[in-house]
Formats: sequence, C-alpha cells, structure tokens
Amino acid sequence: MPRATKIVATLGPASNTPEILEAMIRAGVNVVRLNFSHGTAQDHIDRANMVRDAAHRAGTEVAIMADLQGPKIRVGKFASGKVMLENGAAFVLDASRTEPGDLAGVGLDYKELPRDVKPGDTLLLNDGLIVLKVDAVRGAAVHTTVVMGGELSNNKGINKQGGGLTAPALTAKDMDDIRTAMALKADYVAVSFPKTATDMELARQLCNVACIDGHRPGLIAKIERAEAIPELENILRASDGIMVARGDLAVEVGNAAVPGLQKRMIKLAREHDKVAITATQMMESMILAPVPTRAEVSDVANAVLDGTDAVMLSAETAAGKFPLETVKEMANICLVAEQASDRNLDASFVGKTFNRIDQSIAMGALFTAYHLGAKAIVALTESGSTALWMSRHNVGMPIYALTGSLASQRKMTLYRNVRPLLTDTHTDRDTALAQAETSLKQAGRIQTGDLYAITCGEPMGAPGGTNMLKICQAQ
Ligand code: PGA
Ligand code: MN
Repeated sequence: MPRATKIVATLGPASNTPEILEAMIRAGVNVVRLNFSHGTAQDHIDRANMVRDAAHRAGTEVAIMADLQGPKIRVGKFASGKVMLENGAAFVLDASRTEPGDLAGVGLDYKELPRDVKPGDTLLLNDGLIVLKVDAVRGAAVHTTVVMGGELSNNKGINKQGGGLTAPALTAKDMDDIRTAMALKADYVAVSFPKTATDMELARQLCNVACIDGHRPGLIAKIERAEAIPELENILRASDGIMVARGDLAVEVGNAAVPGLQKRMIKLAREHDKVAITATQMMESMILAPVPTRAEVSDVANAVLDGTDAVMLSAETAAGKFPLETVKEMANICLVAEQASDRNLDASFVGKTFNRIDQSIAMGALFTAYHLGAKAIVALTESGSTALWMSRHNVGMPIYALTGSLASQRKMTLYRNVRPLLTDTHTDRDTALAQAETSLKQAGRIQTGDLYAITCGEPMGAPGGTNMLKICQAQ
C-alpha cells in the first residue's frame, strides 16, 4: 500500500527555493501552505508559481493552500524590543498608549481588548508562555497582574482563556488576500479564527465574488477558538474541511483538552464527508534537530490512527534547519502507522442511507471491493466527490481517482488514501474504462489479474453523474 495520509508543508525562508521545494515534494509533500501573514500579493503569486513548477519537475501535482492571517490580536512594540515580566508585577495593556512599551505596560494592536475583558479574566500572551490576570479595566487600559512571567517581545499574540475576543474572523486584509488567493488559483483557502458557520459563509461569498474561470477553492476552517467548538457541526457544513489548529486552540481551551478534541473533530469531519488536517508542533524539535522526539513520532502516528486526512508542518519546513529530513521522517511515520490502522467497514457504514445515486454507487463500490478483497478502487470523477465519499471509510485499498480536471486533481491530493491522476475525458464509456486500466497499469498501480472496482457516470464527463459500478480483472 502506498502512503495514504497526506502531508501539508508550510513554505518559508527554509524552503523557499525551487531545489528544496522539489526535493520536499519528491519526499512526500502533497499540499503546500502559503502563510498570508508574510509577504505581498506578488510574493504569493510568485511562490505559487514556484510551487507548481517544482511539482511538475517532480512529476506530480500538489495543492496550494492560502492560509489567511485573520485578526491580529497582539500587543504593540517595546522601547527596547522586549521586557522581562516578573511574577506578581503589575502590567498595563493600554489601547490608547502611543509611546513604546516598558516594564509597566505596553500599547495594543488590538484596540478592542478593553471591551472584551473583565476583572478575573486570564490573558495568555505569546502562545501561553506568559499569563496575566485582569484586575480592572479603566477606560482603554487593562490593568493586570503577572501570574506567570517571562520575556515579552514586540507584537506577541494575546488569547483569552475560554474565548470571548470579539475580533471578526475576516479582516480587511483577509478580504484583499482572498482576491490574491483567487488570482493564483489556490486549491484551498484556510480561514483563521472562525467562530461560526457565518464566518465561513462570508469567506465563501468573497471567493465567489473574486472567482476567475469558475475556479472554486475548498474552504478550510481553522478550529482555534473556544467558541468554534460548540459550533463544529455548523462550521463543518459550511466548509470543505477543518484544521485542528492546536497552537491557538490549546491556549484558549487549555492544553489538556486538545487531544480529546482532536479525536472528536477528525471523527466528526469524516462523518460529514469533510476533510481534516492535524496541525502545529507535530515535529517541532526538528526545527533544530535532525531527528524527532519519541513523543513527536507518537503524535504523528496517533493523528494517523485518529483518521486525519493530513498532518501539517509549520515552522519545521518554513524556518527549520531540516525541512527535507522532516518531510521524509513524517512520511515514514505515516506509512508505518497506517499498517496498524483498522481496515474494515465499520458498523456505521451499514447503517447509513443515501438518497443520491452517485453517493450510493460510491458506497456500493466500497462494499463490493472490500468483500471481494479487490486490489484497488478506481473512480472516474470530474468533481472528485466520489473519491471523497469513498475515502471517508478505511477499507485498506488505494482509491485511484481519474479526472479530466486539473483543479479536481489538485484538490484531491489532500484526501486520505486518494491518488488522483489526470486523464483524458472520453465520451465513450468502453474507451474510458479501457483507458483507465491502461494508464493504471502503465503507472504500475495495478497488474494483470488484479481485481478492481471502477465507477463512472453516463453520459461521461459530467460532474455529479456517477451511476455505474463495474468489477474488472486487469487484462
Ligand atoms: P497558525 O495556525 O499557525 O496560523 O497560528 C495554526 C494553529 O494555531 O495551530
Ligand atoms: Mn493559529
């Protein structure tokens, strides 16, 4: 079995050259994440071109994910760049402060903070490394006591424990960035800090307005706010997938709650026929070291066992010393963990009912292929939906998705256990089926005598038209 779990890698100074990118893609990167917190519109367009060129040289396609910055909930700058906060000291976060910060207090990029907090609240700065307790709010000034001190430097992020910051998920900059993402035909757009389905619906509308040539990106909701948890199902319905964004999420809900939430989110995403990405600090120590810790190996493997579609690398590939080694290591951990995964049609599969013909055929193919012990499932699919539905169940055989659409091919690179291939579209069914078998044999995916299930739709080439299942033995 080829590797089923996909790898998302973040582009940054450590990976920003054609050579390293090509090597990373050859080593297993399926999706490249462009962080829209850094760089101009032209930078993003140039990077996207570089990624697609590198993928071509590596003989494959990758998806590009445009990750929007979202609201900046940050402190301002310090006169000396940073201060050392001592436990028990008083510290004032002041939205009206214009002069640079010092040991007594600092200004705020996020001017609404005084309205969002009340005495007794806990604020976490710099990913939770610094903890402040709110004593009083006087006008624009939030008076706090340092509970856990440490070094605080310019523009560090602020989270409120339990959630409750009112900043909207989509800022004016994000709205501009969506236009850039559409111009570079991003395959996925990730929305940071959504709280409700409405945030995702707004992002969808903005993408539709900026749409070029009918290109529709998949929308990923980054689940990183406490408020998003009770809204998960609604957010899922409005999105194409979610990211378990453990960095900010852990700060808001507490570290210990995250592993349980990760399992629940991945399960829920799959039940809703959506994709899930597990993100943040997966191989963190490899930013500096050539090997991961045992705990990191376990973390990646457990995400695979949880059923995640993809595991994500952030600083490891963006700014680390060993971007290529990290990808290789991660790919291997996934591969070995998959061999320990359950491969069966669970009870929920049998209990499910469908009212769509294409979805019923997809499930029929899974059921049949599983019980026959087929070598592979093949889906001739325009939109990729058939492959997505099939991939929500782990039956232990690869799903080859043959599509005439380059956009669908790229989008499907994120789906667990789906290997998308670009193919010519034929209007004649028998020609299409024969061509599918030939190209899979040529690619070394199936051999003479192999049993496989194949689905397609008549008339051929129309999206949403899958209505046929055939069991074949490769000639
Ligand atoms: P970020 O999102 O890397 O954009 O902050 C991921 C996370 O918060 O875990
Ligand atoms: Mn985040």
